[in-house]
Amino acid sequence: MDMKDRVCVVTGGSSGLGRGTIEALLAQGAKVANLDLRPPEHPIDEAGELFMAVDVSDEAAVAAAIDAVAARFGAVHVCVNCAGIVRGAPVLDDDGIFPMALFRRTVDVNLTGTFQVLAHCARHMARNAPGPDGERGVIVNTASIAAVDASSSAAYAASKGGVTSLTLTVARDLARFGIRVNAICPGFMDTEMFGGLPADWTAALVAKTVFPKRLGHPDEFGQLVCHLIENRFMNASIIRFDAGSRV
Ligand code: NAD
Repeated sequence: MDMKDRVCVVTGGSSGLGRGTIEALLAQGAKVANLDLRPPEHPIDEAGELFMAVDVSDEAAVAAAIDAVAARFGAVHVCVNCAGIVRGAPVLDDDGIFPMALFRRTVDVNLTGTFQVLAHCARHMARNAPGPDGERGVIVNTASIAAVDASSSAAYAASKGGVTSLTLTVARDLARFGIRVNAICPGFMDTEMFGGLPADWTAALVAKTVFPKRLGHPDEFGQLVCHLIENRFMNASIIRFDAGSRV
């Protein structure tokens, strides 16, 4: 799908990978709705970007926001799920077991949030006039290498494993509407999520990459999202984006 004038819903677009995605989409002439808990520090293009304060774990808020995007721009063509949270804790230590409220919240935001945003976007995409190959919409979800490697949080690993696991099933379910679905598993990216780590921790993460020996940049993530939107043969795929990192 070409991106010019396409209407894109991006979650978590006020920071990090979501911000990199929005910058890339706006550069290609797309219109973007950014669903995040907080507004971006520096909006890039107030005419092209609509910020909506939405908690992706709240289904009623998600449904209403996506309906409002369709009403404002006339359609929904693309959905990119970037909203996510991580907080590490061991399953068991001297203080007790992993906080169950944190487990539920992580799954609610990272997995349930992703699913309800994509489903409500698909509801609108199905109404689009079909393009080449019958295409009506594109969905990109953000999982993590934690879906298959280790993580500092079992809740995070489980939530991201869920995002990768639903990819093929959702792609099959939505194929009859001409909607493609792919998931990206980033490795170590230079965003707020890792921003607070001590320098020696960051160096240890970077040491796990094969080449180049650095964190990934949000604009590189945005480039990959644009490719997945443009390339119609990319469907039902789970893509590692990690410079060869293994944890
Ligand atoms: P980030 O913290 O920079 O950005 C996350 C954004 O999501 C923030 O703007 C935040 O406000 C928003 N958000 C959080 N909870 C929300 C909610 N309930 N509703 C709506 N918005 C919410 O993090 P990031 O590094 O850009 O992460 C983006 C995605 O990439 C996440 O899903 C994360 O798990 C995944 N990821 C990141 C890395 C990394 O190295 N940074 C690696 C693998 C996967």
